[in-house]
Amino acid sequence: MKFETKIKVAASAIILVMSTVAALPMIVNRQVTMVMAELRSASNVERLQLTLLELLLNAETAQRGFVVTGDERFLDPYHSAVNGIPATREALRKELTSGAEVARLGAIEQATAAKMQTVARTIELRRRAGFGAATALIAAGTGKVQMDTLRELIGKELAIYAERRNALGEQLLATSNSAATASLVATLTNILFLGGVLLAATRVLRQRDAAEHKAKEAAVQTQLTSERISLQNDLLFRSADLMHSLELAESTDESAGVIASYLPRLLPNLSGSLYLYNNSRDILERKAGWGSVAGEPDIIEALDCWALRRGSPHAYSAGGLACRHAPNPELDRLCLPLVTQGDVIGCLTVTGQGLAHGAEDQRAWIGQLAEQLGLALSNVRLRVSLRQQSIVDPLTQLYNRRYMDEVLKRELARSQRNGLPVSVLVLDLDHFKRINDTYGHEAGDAILRKVALILRENIRSCDVACRMGGEEMVVLLPDCGTEHAHKRADALRLAIAAGDLLHGGERIGATASIGVASYPAHGHNMQTLVHAADLALYEAKHNGRNQVRVAQADPSAVG
Ligand code: GH3
Ligand code: MG
Ligand code: MG
Repeated sequence: MKFETKIKVAASAIILVMSTVAALPMIVNRQVTMVMAELRSASNVERLQLTLLELLLNAETAQRGFVVTGDERFLDPYHSAVNGIPATREALRKELTSGAEVARLGAIEQATAAKMQTVARTIELRRRAGFGAATALIAAGTGKVQMDTLRELIGKELAIYAERRNALGEQLLATSNSAATASLVATLTNILFLGGVLLAATRVLRQRDAAEHKAKEAAVQTQLTSERISLQNDLLFRSADLMHSLELAESTDESAGVIASYLPRLLPNLSGSLYLYNNSRDILERKAGWGSVAGEPDIIEALDCWALRRGSPHAYSAGGLACRHAPNPELDRLCLPLVTQGDVIGCLTVTGQGLAHGAEDQRAWIGQLAEQLGLALSNVRLRVSLRQQSIVDPLTQLYNRRYMDEVLKRELARSQRNGLPVSVLVLDLDHFKRINDTYGHEAGDAILRKVALILRENIRSCDVACRMGGEEMVVLLPDCGTEHAHKRADALRLAIAAGDLLHGGERIGATASIGVASYPAHGHNMQTLVHAADLALYEAKHNGRNQVRVAQADPSAVG
């Protein structure tokens, strides 16, 4: 049964019992009133009977006094009785209700009338015949017998009414007892119902308290879960953003910088370093760090790190197995190898309080991050290497024509924007066919590599040297005018001419002819500029080789 229903039933029962209790005094009162009325009537009857008896006795006494004395004054009580008896009899009749009582009263009335006649006759005889005749009548005993009969009849009546009064008294007591009992039962019943209600209410309140407590706990749990999910979402979003940025990184160093800028937000309240193998794979260099990384070494060896030795994550806390590269043995540390396709490319080290114990979610998240970083970094390396392969000539390690076209276009556009000049040197080795023919193709390759090295070593970092094909090379000189480009070309020519090499026990070398053209003096676009430099180169060849020639001014460029 529901709590509300129980309360309703109990309340109805209490109201019922209370109504009964409220009606009880009324019922009792009515009964008491009835009994009291009966008692009063019984008392009246008794009193009237006694009055009757007294009147009769007075009448007899008066008769006796008159008979003895003959003095009429003695008859006063007799006259009072003669007058009082009818009134007393009427009063008695009014009090009586049952047929038996009326019948009994009839007998008393008859006896009274007989007695009063005898008294009247005796008085009459005394008046008429004197003391003797009257005394003789009294002595005959009729009057005494009649009086005795009346005493007996009235005595019986009085006994009946005394008994009735007793019975009524007992009835009154019983009524009062049953009223008290009913009231007690009602009170107890009410207490029982109220107790039941109290018990049910307490139980329901306790259940509600428990439910409320559970609801609160559930709400707190939900709040925590939603905060955790929101944090995870945030981290996932940031890590996706990091991965996207890494896709755009053009070198490992650039990608390390990107990682260093993201990790403080991806691993808040933690510190750490990112180590990557160098090209020769003998050591790992610290490419990025975040948080408090004081004392973290810039270079570590694979044997310094248990994670790198094992090829799986290694968690450290005080008293555990410490890596040699860890500067502070008090700090918890997590080292994670960055693995991609079974190849270890580096190591992520993370430090922070309580990292090694508990915080499983956090460790799992760092593990995922390390996996993603390994993959992304290996992609960067692959991309860098592919790009390198696509833009670098494998023999000379100079950029190829494709890359030169790209850079020249970009530099021309930049120059057109900022108004600074840009120069192009077109360089061709002299009589190279002859060198090949004389010393062999390998010697020719060696000379090509040597010349490429001289070019790389003698240009600025912003300059770009590339092999256009065969033994023809181009050097792009941004922010460099014709005059200066001429000087740079001559310096290169001299360096090439001086740079011989030992081949098959012989010193061999080559010279180069160079044509120079500049934007805006000799051309406005890639084709016209390179064409102008080519023409200058032919002129250098034509004039005896091993020399530099500057392009003719482009008439269309003038003005
Ligand atoms: P010039 O002074 O007029 O430029 O004479 P040259 O012999 O250099 O000119 P030519 O264009 O006739 O010959 C270029 C030669 O370069 C032809 C080819 O055998 C050689 N050559 C082109 N590419 C390579 C290469 O990759 N390796 C070697 N060893 N030789 C190459
Ligand atoms: Mg040549
Ligand atoms: Mg050539």
